[in-house]
Amino acid sequence: MAFVADRLNAVKPSATIAVTQKARDLRLAGRDIISLGAGEPDFDTPAHIIEAAKKALDDGFTRYTATNGLPELQQAISAKFKRDNGLNYKPSQIHVSCGGKPVIFNAFMASINPGDEVIIPTPYWVSYPDIAAMFNGVPVFVDCPTSTNFKLTPEKLDAAITSKTKWLMLNSPSNPSGTAYTETDLMGLAEVLMRHPHVWIFTDDIYEHIIYDGFKFKTLAQVEPALWERTLTMNGMSKAYCMTGWRVGFAGGPDEIIRAMTKVQSQSISHTAAVSQVASVAALNGPHDFIKEHNKVFRDRRDLVVSMLNQTQGLNCPTPEGAFYVYPSCKELIGKTTEDGKCIQTDEDFVTALIEAEGVAAVHGAAFGLSPHFRISYATSTDLLKDACERIQRFCASLR
Ligand code: GLU
Repeated sequence: MAFVADRLNAVKPSATIAVTQKARDLRLAGRDIISLGAGEPDFDTPAHIIEAAKKALDDGFTRYTATNGLPELQQAISAKFKRDNGLNYKPSQIHVSCGGKPVIFNAFMASINPGDEVIIPTPYWVSYPDIAAMFNGVPVFVDCPTSTNFKLTPEKLDAAITSKTKWLMLNSPSNPSGTAYTETDLMGLAEVLMRHPHVWIFTDDIYEHIIYDGFKFKTLAQVEPALWERTLTMNGMSKAYCMTGWRVGFAGGPDEIIRAMTKVQSQSISHTAAVSQVASVAALNGPHDFIKEHNKVFRDRRDLVVSMLNQTQGLNCPTPEGAFYVYPSCKELIGKTTEDGKCIQTDEDFVTALIEAEGVAAVHGAAFGLSPHFRISYATSTDLLKDACERIQRFCASLR
């Protein structure tokens, strides 16, 4: 009898994790690699957060907590939603897990029956369709090309909704494109959603604070309060607070879904680490000035990367409003041949040849559902980014 369950056949391993691991392995093998694969800030976790964690360990925060976290953390998250988003979630309407992915996992496990559809605007973050597929959900991809700035339009949303639609995934600022939905964009989508009361909305707001050029972040339940009762508003500590390894993600939502997600988690991971929870309380309740400082650095890097890629033969790179990714098109390079005779037929061929020739790791667009593109994370040092972009320029110029 086969060991692997049928349900796993529809699931691919995470491409972002795979590229990051490949870069690590090649580096260990002695190659000079610049990894622009993983979306992970290169800044350290701020000192006051680390201090709070050290103190938590000294104070004995080493035991189990409630499934949805310490009451102090639920309070801090509830206050965050009020402060940043004008949203009211009681502490009991907060779910806390080990990062964004487990929040999605818990929500889908709690709600998806086989055949239920999940609308996923494309390009999407790699894990949405595969987590849906784990529960025999059916991803419904909606193409959102460069011409609409990678955004879902109300018309396309309306056309994608069927009687089987369970969830709409909304991610702003977006991974991988960095595009961000304005209040007006969200109002357009809300108007459609109000006409389809069976659809739940999952808003992945993890890049909320990483925005540029005065962009005003809004989330759906804030823009249309009538959608609050069927929206799960997700966020987390990893990106803005530089806490990727601490593994804390959270969501606010109506009682029914939070109760169901809590049931799932009570039979799986129980809760995220107590020490990470105390650190998150310090982060959410503490000073936030460092985020602005980081954003200045990210913005300069964005401008550098966009400009260098747009000076590169065959690449076309839109300027994103947020997150720390760019998603250039490599369409003009498809069909070209590398110096060692390999034909670039897909964006996966492109990133494979790029890492082989120049040691730059990037993620192919097919992993995010929109080709031919590739994703670069610019959450790495400016010097390395310059070096990487020069290598990309050299590689692209070498194609015939
Ligand atoms: N969200 C990040 C990325 O897209 C981290 C890796 C992952 O969990 O996919 O690179």
